[in-house]
Amino acid sequence: MNEFFPNMLPAVAVTEIPVLGGGAFPVRRVYCVGRNYLDHIREMGEADERDPPFFFQKPRDSIVQDGAQVAYPPFTDDFQFEVELVIAIGRAGKNIPVAEALDHIWGYAVGIDLTRRDRQRDARDMKLPWEAGKSFDASAPCGAIAPARDARHFKGCAITLSVNGVEKQRGDIGQMIWSVPEIVTELSKQMTLEPGDLIYTGTPAGVGAVVPGDLIDAHIEGLPSLTITITPPEA
Ligand code: MN
Repeated sequence: MNEFFPNMLPAVAVTEIPVLGGGAFPVRRVYCVGRNYLDHIREMGEADERDPPFFFQKPRDSIVQDGAQVAYPPFTDDFQFEVELVIAIGRAGKNIPVAEALDHIWGYAVGIDLTRRDRQRDARDMKLPWEAGKSFDASAPCGAIAPARDARHFKGCAITLSVNGVEKQRGDIGQMIWSVPEIVTELSKQMTLEPGDLIYTGTPAGVGAVVPGDLIDAHIEGLPSLTITITPPEA
């Protein structure tokens, strides 16, 4: 008889993100769009700018919150930031029409898609999965979620990221190849969306590497900002 009983293990911790004005948003899954700004596709030297969007996932427990200290991760010498608008899903759906997509959105946040760029490039060159480059501990910083109370829904507004007070990324949400509703629609053709799902929507140009001690500040007009500090690798 096996000496380990599942019900003797401690419960797995839930992941929650603070909501602007109070409360918390429970996280179910974390999706990311692979490429969504032309200038970033060009800086990465990637091929077809008209390709349909593709999605990958990060582990739910890779979420870290505003103010977090993020240890420089193992298995990389090229640890990079990507500032992104994050969509928080509040209503389930599959094959969601574009005209109904906004009805499924509960709120928005500022996120950073932390990336082991060297491992991502290896994956691209060797036609391997993206996990080593994208899905690791603390790889998904996310700021407080602002409920989507009005109809603005980020058709256009500034998205910026600075390191130690120096601006590195500046774009506009209006530059996204696939708009917020289109992203919801496309992902819902592949997966059933459920309340608690997050979608990181891609990054503009200017991505770059950080080192321990760096302070990263990410902003999107109208949303709570997101600040993290990179600390030395854990022993
Ligand atoms: Mn990204």
